[in-house]
Amino acid sequence: MCLPLRIALALFLWSLGWATSLAATLPRAAEHVSADPSIDWDSFSFSLNGVKTDSMWVDRVVVDEDETVYSDAVDKCLAPLGPLSLSPTCTVLNYGQSLFEGMKAFRRADGSIALFRPERNALRMKQGAERMCLPPVPVEVFVRAADSVVRANTKWVPPLGKGALYLRPLLFGSGEDLGVKPSHESTFCIYCSPVGNYFKGGLKAISLQAVRGFSRAAPGGSGGVKAGGNYAPAFLVQRQVKKRGYDEALFLDAVSGEAIEEAGASNFFAVFPNNTIVTPALSSETILPGVTRSSVIELAQQECGCKVVEGRITVDDLRECCEAFCCGTGASVTPVGSVSVTSRESPDLEEQPSIVYGDGTTPGPMTQRLYDLLLNIQMGTDQKLSKKYGHWIHIVEP
Ligand SMILES: *Cc1c(COP(=O)(O)O)cnc(C)c1O
Repeated sequence: MCLPLRIALALFLWSLGWATSLAATLPRAAEHVSADPSIDWDSFSFSLNGVKTDSMWVDRVVVDEDETVYSDAVDKCLAPLGPLSLSPTCTVLNYGQSLFEGMKAFRRADGSIALFRPERNALRMKQGAERMCLPPVPVEVFVRAADSVVRANTKWVPPLGKGALYLRPLLFGSGEDLGVKPSHESTFCIYCSPVGNYFKGGLKAISLQAVRGFSRAAPGGSGGVKAGGNYAPAFLVQRQVKKRGYDEALFLDAVSGEAIEEAGASNFFAVFPNNTIVTPALSSETILPGVTRSSVIELAQQECGCKVVEGRITVDDLRECCEAFCCGTGASVTPVGSVSVTSRESPDLEEQPSIVYGDGTTPGPMTQRLYDLLLNIQMGTDQKLSKKYGHWIHIVEP
């Protein structure tokens, strides 16, 4: 047998041994209901997938200037998934007084089911609530509600490696109001839906296009919180960019029009040749503080020996970097294959030739490494990482 073949065989046998010994040494977690075996989980994408899950969390409370109390009682708040009844006068429909969150529950290598850093989402919704004049949901109530929703829908958590149960917490003004002012009633709701793996059969780079003249967020506005009203105005840009054949829109800052802010609903990173990674700083409040963003920053520093700078990256800087990627709960770490810039006035004219990374499809090594690290931590497939980042994992007890 030639040497490379022998090495490949040895590696294969070694990894087999590793996988079985890992399974043998890991204590099995308490048993959960398995994923519904009649479902073709491989066919699922990031959509509702025609599935109606069993239960949601709903709590409608009267706003109290001193302290609004949200319930943490499972028997009161857990209800069959279904329509909500709202008056046409409520502030969410009239003025967009609303926030949302996005998080995932995974099945892990030891049979457990876990949420990834749910207290981070809770904290972000709390900060958003202050900005939108909604009474904040306490972190413990948020996490307990999320935990309860997963437990009530365990058969909808896809098998290990085949996707996740996506949780969508909402907070909005739901009272009968007419005046242009915050609602006197608030609704906290969490629904869920299983989603498939974003990348089937390996990571694939996406193409981005920035359109000058359209902006997502301005300093002092609400771009730094997950307010529902931030997203509909971006639909038009996203639709136009996709029509021209790009995968996602890239947003530039509203002041200079030169600095990169975000891609669609995900944070942006540029990798430079000297192991320096730059991501747009949160200081202008125009960038959403992603849970994935902060996790990736920590992993790049701790596990990859990178220097991470939270600063400013212009379109010109993109020619100097060797890799770029986006990240968020939906698609975890997404390699960027190319970036093109155009304008609102003449959208069919690209300003300069697109910036292309590698062959435009294959992920760069740092992007791949960060993706693997994050996935291994979420799935619990690496004991050493599981130990070190155990505090990122919230186990849902059966
Ligand atoms: C949700 C979101 C992100 C990603 O945040 P994660 O917490 O990592 O999911 C990034 N940008 C925008 C605009 C978002 O809405």
